[in-house]
Amino acid sequence: KEELNIIQGALELRNKTVEDVLTPLNDCFMLTSDAHLDFYTMTDIMQSGFTRIPVYENERSNIVDILFVKDLAFVDPDDCTPLKTITLFYKHPLHCVFNDTKLDSMLEQFKKGKSHLAIVHRVNNEGEGDPFYEVMGIVTLEDVIEEIIKSEIVDE
Ligand code: ADP
Repeated sequence: KEELNIIQGALELRNKTVEDVLTPLNDCFMLTSDAHLDFYTMTDIMQSGFTRIPVYENERSNIVDILFVKDLAFVDPDDCTPLKTITLFYKHPLHCVFNDTKLDSMLEQFKKGKSHLAIVHRVNNEGEGDPFYEVMGIVTLEDVIEEIIKSEIVDE
């Protein structure tokens, strides 16, 4: 029964898109690029429990970097290090995909190993003005795997 479910989940990967499984931008735990890594911010990061944290400039839709929690290994909260110092040092590449990317292709991209988190954007041409890229949220390898096994992976 379980195997059948998994096979079905795997077959459905090409019918579903990242838009179906993403974590909406409003639900993302993010940091602003002018943050300082003081005790308060570091506690917030640890309590969020996330491994990768998008960093935005001015508005949440403008993601400019990703902070990995492991980047904080040598950071002393007493130093109040500017977040920019860390993101400039590690410069993790941003991986962006369109909302209509199929989950099988997303899985292939994740397997190639660049990053296991991608930023999902779409072309917004609804308003009066020129079309623009609009960030919708983030998708991770875990979101795709959950679609295959058809059940929630409870975090550690
Ligand atoms: P983590 O390793 O941080 O637990 P996973 O890649 O295992 O993250 O993803 C677990 C779930 O959490 C997924 O649904 C993913 O979309 C979501 N997620 C990952 N990072 C964040 C974040 N910074 N803010 C909100 N949700 C996130």
